[in-house]
Amino acid sequence: MAEYPTPRAAVRRTKEYHPPLGSRDSTRLDFNENTFACSPKVLEVLGGISRADLTKYPEREPVERLVASHLGLSAEQVLLTNGVDESIHVLCQTFLDIGDQFLLPVPTYSMYEVYGSSTEAEIICVQAKEDFSFPLEALLQRITPATKLIAIANPNSPTGRAVPRESILRVIESAPNAMVLVDEAYYHFYGHTVLGLLERAPNLVVTRTFSKAYGLAGLRLGMLAAHPEQMRWMRRVISPYSVNGLALACLPAAMDDNAYLKWYVDEVLQGRDLLAAALRRLSVHYWPSDANFILMKIGAKHREFVTAMRHRNVLVRDRSNDPGCDGCVRITIGTLEHTRIGIDALEASLAEIGWKPDED
Ligand code: PMP
Repeated sequence: MAEYPTPRAAVRRTKEYHPPLGSRDSTRLDFNENTFACSPKVLEVLGGISRADLTKYPEREPVERLVASHLGLSAEQVLLTNGVDESIHVLCQTFLDIGDQFLLPVPTYSMYEVYGSSTEAEIICVQAKEDFSFPLEALLQRITPATKLIAIANPNSPTGRAVPRESILRVIESAPNAMVLVDEAYYHFYGHTVLGLLERAPNLVVTRTFSKAYGLAGLRLGMLAAHPEQMRWMRRVISPYSVNGLALACLPAAMDDNAYLKWYVDEVLQGRDLLAAALRRLSVHYWPSDANFILMKIGAKHREFVTAMRHRNVLVRDRSNDPGCDGCVRITIGTLEHTRIGIDALEASLAEIGWKPDED
């Protein structure tokens, strides 16, 4: 019998992650992307890329300096990554060792568990409260000297709930041996940041993405910021060329176009109110969101609902398998036009499946 090399035990344990594929022609309200476009200035840059530009290995540092000054940080504090997903991977690879514990308030973004489980560390999940608010006391109780990483998405996905700054401070102070990741992927739709704490908290890591409000998910651009001391270790782990040259060329133009960013964020904030009002009118239970999506409870008919939406060419994400999210579906808020399309499809789909308010 043929023998095959086997991967590390941790890799065999690692959860598989298969993002659902969706037709390009659909209204995609399933990935929390920008539903419309990035700044037109980005396309101008892409149009100016020459064949000779593509021959060169990408240089991350000059763009990191720009991002740092944009955010009021020093260049040593900033690392550009291939999306925030790579930031999470680098963080896990840098800090999680055998015998360590990774504390994860759940439900939350799936990739924390995916990357965490490919290390030798133990993952400990702490369930959010019934209203999905942050389980501060339960989390504090689980902190031990072995706690090495704690991941907090703020606002959280799939719930849209934000974590109060005081709670984040309590976690940072209570776990001095652990890196505390505050993932601000949805910062632009929320408006509060803990970047200002980096100077005094050597165990804090903050991530931001250019995939959401900036509309650059296809370029794969994220960033991680931490105390310079910690950054040295993470720079050892990351591949030097993981952020490609096209992405680096486009980033300054995207960051400069504040008017475009503001326009898109305004559309989302108006759409969020519109969608919430529609859900109230239809008596669908939902959780108030600080992000560009809303989690709602459809109940037993969640699969039928997602299918009915797909037949109307609108993709939404079934989150029923997330801890504590039985019967829940998440819907992205995009431009007002796309949000209106989503609301119309939602109303028609609920009617088609014969959904009643008491079914959730
Ligand atoms: N963090 C959170 C909380 C997210 O929801 C997502 C994307 N869905 C990411 C990080 C990943 O972002 P990126 O595209 O930058 O890898």
